[in-house]
Amino acid sequence: QAKEMGKNTFRFYSESIGESMAERFKMEVALRNDLSASTPSSSPFFVVYQPQYNAKKQVVGAEALVRWSSAELGFISPAKFIPVAEEVGLIDELGMFVVNRVLHDISNMASLFEKSTLDHVSINLSIKQLTNPTLTSRLLNAFQHEGVSPDKVRFEFTESVFLDNALNPKALFSEMSEIGFTFALDDFGTGFSSLSYLKDLPISELKIDKTFVDGIPNEESDTTICSATISMAQKLGLQLVAEGVETEGQFDWLVAHGCNLLQGYLMSQPIEYKEFVSLLEKSHVD
Ligand code: C2E
Ligand code: MG
Ligand code: MG
Ligand code: MG
Repeated sequence: QAKEMGKNTFRFYSESIGESMAERFKMEVALRNDLSASTPSSSPFFVVYQPQYNAKKQVVGAEALVRWSSAELGFISPAKFIPVAEEVGLIDELGMFVVNRVLHDISNMASLFEKSTLDHVSINLSIKQLTNPTLTSRLLNAFQHEGVSPDKVRFEFTESVFLDNALNPKALFSEMSEIGFTFALDDFGTGFSSLSYLKDLPISELKIDKTFVDGIPNEESDTTICSATISMAQKLGLQLVAEGVETEGQFDWLVAHGCNLLQGYLMSQPIEYKEFVSLLEKSHVD
């Protein structure tokens, strides 16, 4: 009986691993082809922007999020293909595609930074991009090429950067912040790092993870974590963005507790560049 079960278990696992290996391999091949074979305008990769709002529901920022519409595999979530791109060494190429695309868009909407409440656009950087020693110089080239000033962009990273032995975050972030780049700590509270980096590193912003926002206003543990994070950010002089705001109840609770930067489906899903521009044009401050 036990032997039988063992056999079944083995067969079950080997099949499921085999399937997912094949899937990952297909994804790798498609990623490689789609990254190399196309010009920026015909690329199956593109960037969408999720607006970030202040307490008066004015757009003050946006998070750039990559999308992939593969001819072979269809639409795939970045939560699936980013880890594969990281594993197979394609994240630098994909990451620079995103940076170049966003800088191009920023330079096209330069006047909107003056005419609207928009302050900056955030770009996600994965740990694998941050550990590449050529990152800073490639970023500098890209910003110079598009004529975009570093203060128009904020880079988001996760706590994983503090757990990677190959990276000295203090050295890297100091170097980058001297150039004028600013940083946000994404998915705050979900990692396993110590809080000491908050006083050692040049970080401008914390993003409270959606998993905590989800429990507002009914889950006491979540509201406790959110209000503690808000007051800690205030005392440390950090901006604080709440992620994944989906209900009026969450919005009102967060604003009442001092969180005045918010992002989520309640206000807007991620939208394409043109739609983002018309949103900003409608909200001109004269
Ligand atoms: P993230 O950086 O934490 O981005 C927030 C994610 O939450 C986005 O998912 C966004 O669409 C989603 N979201 C925002 N508001 C709501 C809401 O109210 N409800 C719900 N259910 N979801 C909401 P997305 O675009 O699928 O991206 C997933 C993750 O993939 C990102 O998490 C980020 O870690 C990664 N990613 C996306 N674009 C890039 C990129 O250009 N470079 C890198 N390195 N990673 C990226
Ligand atoms: Mg402005
Ligand atoms: Mg992010
Ligand atoms: Mg996040």
